[in-house]
Amino acid sequence: MIPIAKPLLGNEEKAAVLRVLESGMIASGPRTEEFEKKFAEFVGTKYAIATTSGTTALHLGLLSIGVKKGDEVILPDFSFIATANSPLFCEATPVFCDVDLRTFNIDPDKIKKLITKKTKAIMPVHLYGQAADMKPISEIAEKHGVHVIGDAAQAHGATYGGKMVGSFDDLECFSFYPTKNMTTSEGGMVTTNNVELAEKAISLRNHGREKTKWGYEHGCLGYNYRMTDIAAAIGIEQLKKLPKFNEIRRRNAQYFNDHLAGVEIPYVLPNAQHAYHQYTIKSKNRDALIENLKKNEIGFGIYYPQPLHSYKHLKKYAHNDLKNSESLTNEVLSLPVHPALIEQDLEKIVKVVNGAFQHPCK
Ligand SMILES: *Cc1c(COP(=O)(O)O)cnc(C)c1O
Repeated sequence: MIPIAKPLLGNEEKAAVLRVLESGMIASGPRTEEFEKKFAEFVGTKYAIATTSGTTALHLGLLSIGVKKGDEVILPDFSFIATANSPLFCEATPVFCDVDLRTFNIDPDKIKKLITKKTKAIMPVHLYGQAADMKPISEIAEKHGVHVIGDAAQAHGATYGGKMVGSFDDLECFSFYPTKNMTTSEGGMVTTNNVELAEKAISLRNHGREKTKWGYEHGCLGYNYRMTDIAAAIGIEQLKKLPKFNEIRRRNAQYFNDHLAGVEIPYVLPNAQHAYHQYTIKSKNRDALIENLKKNEIGFGIYYPQPLHSYKHLKKYAHNDLKNSESLTNEVLSLPVHPALIEQDLEKIVKVVNGAFQHPCK
């Protein structure tokens, strides 16, 4: 079986975790600080704030920019559920925006029509590892005085306009779940260049604690979203390997681009470098393709089988102009592209995908 995702954990991660266990300091401590420093350096921001997951990073990010009850947050209708849930954690309203059929990402032209007096933030998702079209998004945000908070859970090491995802926007939120381009087991990170936002996030991550003499002053309602040093130790080692991991993902993707036939391959913005968290094709003949993949023991994923606005607790936020995300849910199919694939895997995947269309009657 060729799995759709596989975390690559080696002796380096094992040794690092062991050192933390032996140190006796297993909660948030020096390894977490080191990981934050290195991640900020990698992304190119002044600050990085480690959290317990991508979901809590999103929550923390929204709280830091002051999202509260009654506010609206514009986000793509085509994403993982956590994107839409995070404004709800703040009692704010998710406003679903349709996506571009080629990039799968939020459509900047459609954002404009959704801006109201209540809009507090735009939350683009860099889906499958490709940056959303940030230039027009930043321009809209600037014009209307709203924040941009990116969901970079799938885009470690992706670039846009020569800059690393995570380094533009007010805030960006990463996930280190085991299927992502790098992992800490569970874990997340908020990156920002804004000192005020960073300080807010640091405080809210730790029960709203303020920097005082005794350390037990709590200025507001906060949470415990602190990363452990066990997770951070894994993250430090994974971060060292991330450039190589991404290089292999891009090479695998190139192989598919060169060899797949009869399906629509991923479109990459001319000014972007894709991190291929997923290699997602489009096919009107998806069911037949899936049959063939199953028969040949090739893992696959449907990200995502339904648009966000169709979930029961999100239906009340739906509106009419969400046709593209709806149609994508019927056509997208993600193939294994991760760095654990070997050459024979790539060849087999191509053969099976192409075969499904060369012989549609068999
Ligand atoms: C994985 C993911 C998240 C959530 O991250 P967790 O670490 O699983 O909480 C949020 N948004 C997107 C787009 C994701 O892919």
